[in-house]
Amino acid sequence: MNRRNFPASAERIAADINALAGLTEPGRPYTRRAFTPLHLEGRSFLAEQFRKAGLAVHVDAGGNLVGRRAGNNPGLGTLMLGSHSDTVPDGGRFDGIAGVIAALEVARTLTEQGIDLEHDLEIVDFLAEEVSIFGVSCIGSRSMAGIRPSEWLSREVDGQTLAQGIANAGGDPERHEIRSDIRVFLELHIEQGPILEAERLSIGVVTAIAGITRIEVKIEGRADHAGTTPMDRRADALVAASRMVLDIEALATTMASGRAHFAATVGEFFLLPNAANVIPSHVRMLIDIRAEKPEDAKLFARALQKTADEIGSASGTTISLNPISEAAAVPMNSYLQEVLSDIAGVIGQGHRRLASGAGHDAAFIARVAPAGMIFIPCRDGRSHAAEEFAETNDIALGAMVLLEAVKRLDNEMSTTTDAERH
Ligand SMILES: [Zn+2]
Repeated sequence: MNRRNFPASAERIAADINALAGLTEPGRPYTRRAFTPLHLEGRSFLAEQFRKAGLAVHVDAGGNLVGRRAGNNPGLGTLMLGSHSDTVPDGGRFDGIAGVIAALEVARTLTEQGIDLEHDLEIVDFLAEEVSIFGVSCIGSRSMAGIRPSEWLSREVDGQTLAQGIANAGGDPERHEIRSDIRVFLELHIEQGPILEAERLSIGVVTAIAGITRIEVKIEGRADHAGTTPMDRRADALVAASRMVLDIEALATTMASGRAHFAATVGEFFLLPNAANVIPSHVRMLIDIRAEKPEDAKLFARALQKTADEIGSASGTTISLNPISEAAAVPMNSYLQEVLSDIAGVIGQGHRRLASGAGHDAAFIARVAPAGMIFIPCRDGRSHAAEEFAETNDIALGAMVLLEAVKRLDNEMSTTTDAERH
């Protein structure tokens, strides 16, 4: 199939993305955070486009904007496509947005071509995928999966609670609306990494959304005079911490050279007393570990403990490791991976499988439905910055893959339950 025959329209996709990009905090491209008036403005724009595509629009209990197209066969369940339209502060035009617009383009194309589906089709803009002003993320997709912690509702920022924020977005925070009718969920997202661009591929089929483990490291040394304490009689917490940071990097680099995605970062670092003439006595740092395979995260934690023990005894410091949080990797449905790879091949697009190092709504919807994701390339792998960029043609290609997947799954799942069996 050549590009001229593509029913998905790159022009329409570009127009929608530009319209949303225009809804940003002045002087801060591109900032449209959830629970702000700008985000609701973006939502109004999307709702209008959903309606123009022939979708019936509502906001569900969790505050997700949903455009719905009834299928011929009520009761078969729902094929769902979606992503998120909120941004991080000073974020980009494509993270999340590309997925919502590609999903919308699928609905538009189906309508344009007069294609009726057996299943209901829903296009979803999930509420607050990014870490919101309330300090928590993926609020809409967690709600849909019934795993939004109830204590979050009373979180308050600037006199507004999360419950009020959800209500302002049109949701009903008190009502539980856990979806059991979703037969498949598919999300398109920019890769937010450099692999597809480097390999000149159009489509990445996501194997898993990496798990996130955060480990706090506390190093206790001894504060002494920086001028008088001999070099061989110090217990310098910062020197020990520095050795650890380098060992963490070396260890993570080794683990990342395997087939599965792995990354570890020391991103938070505190030092006491932080004074020029005092040997550092305390360091606290936080390690963020992303692993496609849960066993890799465990292997890394064990190696880290060994390193900490060695550095501690060599430096005269006490090093303690304290796991703060652990979210397991979420594999994408294997049957959907095959369908998406096959379709990318059939429409002649270079593709490969890869894991996602970032979190996504699909990780939560995967709790209640078979879920799959495709990535499209983004320039230099950049995201969460104004420079974030994806080619409209690449988004249109991704929309084509989604469109063909929807048509095929609608057909197959009317008679079998393949995705659920795998
Ligand atoms: Zn995103």
